[in-house]
Amino acid sequence: MGYANGQASYVNGESTSNRKQQPLFSFGLITDVQYADIPDGRSFLGVPRYYRHSILVLQRAVKEWNNHQRHNFVINFGDIVDGYCPKDQSLKTVKKIVHEFENFKGPVYHLIGNHCLYNLPRSQLLPLLRIQSDKGHGYYDFSPMPEYRFVVLGGYDISAIGWPKDHPRTLEALKFLQAKNPNEDKNSPMGLVGLERRFLMFNGGVGEEQMKWLDRVLEESTRLKQKVVVCCHLPLHPGASSKEALLWNYDEVMNLIHRYNCVKLCIAGHDHKGGYSIDSHGVHHKVLEAALECPPGTDAFGYADVYDDRISLHGTDRMKSVDMYFNPKADL
Ligand SMILES: [Zn+2]
Repeated sequence: MGYANGQASYVNGESTSNRKQQPLFSFGLITDVQYADIPDGRSFLGVPRYYRHSILVLQRAVKEWNNHQRHNFVINFGDIVDGYCPKDQSLKTVKKIVHEFENFKGPVYHLIGNHCLYNLPRSQLLPLLRIQSDKGHGYYDFSPMPEYRFVVLGGYDISAIGWPKDHPRTLEALKFLQAKNPNEDKNSPMGLVGLERRFLMFNGGVGEEQMKWLDRVLEESTRLKQKVVVCCHLPLHPGASSKEALLWNYDEVMNLIHRYNCVKLCIAGHDHKGGYSIDSHGVHHKVLEAALECPPGTDAFGYADVYDDRISLHGTDRMKSVDMYFNPKADL
């Protein structure tokens, strides 16, 4: 599965050497809660999904983050409500999960996932998730302190889901899928080989305008000597993810990121089993394990301690911990 580069870096529990040094700041993270008030089920591949239990995972996460008392913010990496949620309950259910997040005593940054878009259109989702973004785009950035910037990408910018049927971005996505995936069901990877298996309807791509925006943000971050963490619902590196879960144009996005040295870590959700790797430029890629797939009584959430030279992810139960040291050569 391509874990060769990264597996050795997993650290279970807290590394003793980290205890003395205080982090610059820390934040909580969770992904793919995919709550729905429906009986448990299974994924396409047969992996159990605990739709009603996942809200308990979120509640325990918020409690832990609040107990910790020093997390500056929380990031939710998307898919808060499952696509199987009955549509007449979508709004109520999204509000219910947002309310759980609001119990965290600090800011919460949300990413939009495909399951969010199966439930509600962007025009309703963005205000509910308090995403400040022009024209329904889901991308934005924020800087919790001068040394760091977080860039949140909109992975469903070019997408066949979530925009109105006749929207130029829907049409562009459908044309793209038509050319790349010969199956009638565009969510089927049948016959697609290797990395082509990402050309599925439940994925999406970053459009031209967003690429230009990303370029400007990375240029500015470089000038300000900021370290950047890129967040995207869809994974950006095949070494950390199933091929079927990757952003359509992850390669273009990574080529742009690699033109700069400021990006240290990319974090994603969507690929429920999670993963980790370091790419050829020393950028870390962490795909978070899904809250939805926690058997009752177990958890998948965590927090990250951010230092000058590394980010340490501390995961609970299914979420694996990892110390991610930055490539010192990148700053030369
Ligand atoms: Zn997803």
